[in-house]
Amino acid sequence: MRIKMGSRFEITIVAKNEELARQTIEDAYLEIDRIEALISSWKAESKTSEINRQAGKSSVAVPRELFSLIERARRVSEWTDGAFDITYAAFDGLWDFNAPTPVIPGRAAVEACLSRVGWHRIQMVPKTNRVFLPQEGMKIGFGAIGKGYAANRAMAIISKAGFQHALVDAGGDLLAKGNDANGNDWRIGIADPNKKGHVLMELRLSNMAVVTSGDYERFVVIDGQHYGHILDPRTGWPVRDLHSVTILCPDAELADALATAVFVKGAVDGLAFVNSVKHVEAVIIEGNGHVHTSLGIQNLKM
Ligand code: ADP
Ligand code: MG
Repeated sequence: MRIKMGSRFEITIVAKNEELARQTIEDAYLEIDRIEALISSWKAESKTSEINRQAGKSSVAVPRELFSLIERARRVSEWTDGAFDITYAAFDGLWDFNAPTPVIPGRAAVEACLSRVGWHRIQMVPKTNRVFLPQEGMKIGFGAIGKGYAANRAMAIISKAGFQHALVDAGGDLLAKGNDANGNDWRIGIADPNKKGHVLMELRLSNMAVVTSGDYERFVVIDGQHYGHILDPRTGWPVRDLHSVTILCPDAELADALATAVFVKGAVDGLAFVNSVKHVEAVIIEGNGHVHTSLGIQNLKM
């Protein structure tokens, strides 16, 4: 286990050659460090921080890898009607989830932040890989997609080294390849948000990512009301109807982004969205404990 991107990462390889497997796990962790240095908005030296600092001033030339990640993030925004939006980051500080006595932000503060949010406003020049945020105070952040991307990249390193069976746990964002040590599909439990330590549902899967977004890890309580860390970028308001959304699909980055997007969309719209796309499944748990599953979940249940 290692702490990366502020979360617990764990990599498992099923292999005969233990030494090569250990070395590969080290290489995979190094790859995650490399990605963190590129995308983290909490590290001043990262290109992402430079883009944010230059908002309203000038465009920034970035590595192709970061440019492509931003392009893919924008595509998910378009696809989810803006429920997922990396420019949500301009809301940073609006809600202080660590404050001793948290407060609900005022309307003016919310409006001011909202005026700096909007994925379609990110300007990108493919020929030169330049990125420009046209207004001071605009910001991008990869909190809802970065761990999924890191999981994909770690698995790419593992595959390149010749291993067929592995599990990457990127802070709860899972990516399972091949089989477990017994030659079976990987067994993944979905946590019961209402009963700590309990498993709500066990799934069997291979070559699949499982990513959960929940409101039970980072939130504040104000006047008995629960406010979570996922915001609707279109209103600036925390989403409050759901406990958790788990997305299953072959790509960890997409699963990560869609878990957040479906969380924002809510149970009804979120489920309809998931059922309308191929190779994406979901388990959605409402605040009142009601569980919704997409049509294909049945085939993955143990
Ligand atoms: P976790 O932090 O548990 O991995 P998520 O993958 O859902 O959960 O990411 C939540 C994080 O994403 C938040 O802490 C914040 O940094 C960012 N975020 C919040 N709302 C949105 C949104 N609507 N679109 C994109 N990113 C968001
Ligand atoms: Mg996410």
